Amino acid sequence: MNMQEYIEEAEQVLLHTYNRYQVVFEKGDGVYLYDIEGKKYLDFVSGIAVFALGYQNREYNDALKAQIDKIIHTSNYYYNVPAIEAAKKLKEISGMDRVFFTNSGAEAIEGAIKAARKYAYLKDGSTDHEIIAMNHSFHGRTFGALSVTGNPHYREAFEPMIGNIRFADLNDFDSVLANVNKKTCAILFETVQGEGGIYPATEDFMKKVKALCEERDILLILDEIQCGMGRTGSMFAWQRFGVKPDIMTTAKALGCGVPVGAFLMTEKVGQHSLTAGDHGTTYGGNPLAGAAICKVLELFEKEHVLDNVREVSAYLEEQLDLLVKEYDVIELRRGAGLMQGLVCKEPVADIINKAMEKGLILINAGSNIIRFLPALIITRQHVDEMIAVLKECL
Ligand SMILES: *Cc1c(COP(=O)(O)O)cnc(C)c1O
Repeated sequence: MNMQEYIEEAEQVLLHTYNRYQVVFEKGDGVYLYDIEGKKYLDFVSGIAVFALGYQNREYNDALKAQIDKIIHTSNYYYNVPAIEAAKKLKEISGMDRVFFTNSGAEAIEGAIKAARKYAYLKDGSTDHEIIAMNHSFHGRTFGALSVTGNPHYREAFEPMIGNIRFADLNDFDSVLANVNKKTCAILFETVQGEGGIYPATEDFMKKVKALCEERDILLILDEIQCGMGRTGSMFAWQRFGVKPDIMTTAKALGCGVPVGAFLMTEKVGQHSLTAGDHGTTYGGNPLAGAAICKVLELFEKEHVLDNVREVSAYLEEQLDLLVKEYDVIELRRGAGLMQGLVCKEPVADIINKAMEKGLILINAGSNIIRFLPALIITRQHVDEMIAVLKECL
């Protein structure tokens, strides 16, 4: 079958929940993807910030294969070494104390919400606690995650959501203050908003929210699912400002392709929230996921991934800023590290489709923003190659 035939078949059998690009990918190599007809694409999306190490990292593949030949699932009623090692490493790089492994980002958010509610419940026994989330946020598609997602368009048809969620504006501390009351148990936001349009939280905002949380024993929950794992040049985006959350979520690049997520908490929250019987998962933290996380974190160090992000992202910013100057249609650049957006004055779908035709993969964030989420191992040459193609499309 050719590509068009596969696409037609897909539309007969898959639930139509995505308006997909008209391409079927078959394999990847480094920062390039190949479709089933052999066409090569430079990938500046990396599966939405998942393939941080690029495709076909030899050591990563070998580690997974070795684990598959031992065991890939046991059940969380037993211990397994890869999960223990992965949790130790995560603790080390984040400074958090306790880890719960999930299979996805949305599940990590669900767990974080449960931990926060339980923490508050143990303090006063009441069951009407509130969470403050942000407008333009995105936290996933399950009900808890959807309830804290600050975009009515995602929620409307599925109401009612879980209750007691209030929305404030990222980087507007007064809007947070206006929503705080005695019932507030947590304040939740993405350190850099992804789907909502690549809005980085400012240092000032983060520090003020953190101080407020400490003063009132409210838990600060940071969603690092898209912006964490090295994407902004530090292992987690909050580390740039030293504003440590009480609970943190991670996923996407954590397994570099193996579906994993996690929520992590400080010892304080760990000791006073979820206990045996409160939460669980069949697959979360299975040996295959653990092996993936361990190898990913090992390779981050060995291949000096953070150094590369800092160096290449400075160059990417420079090159994108030149485009802002050169093209009227582009309003501004926004972002942090290798998580960048070009905000345009009109919808960007045509630009992205043209790029696709020319063998460059980009994605939008909202209708007017071109989003750049390349593998964290890209080089300046890849940036040059991307810019040259993008110019042809603008
Ligand atoms: C992708 C994403 C999620 C949801 O993760 P899934 O693995 O798709 O459930 C949550 N929060 C943020 C910031 C994300 O980018």
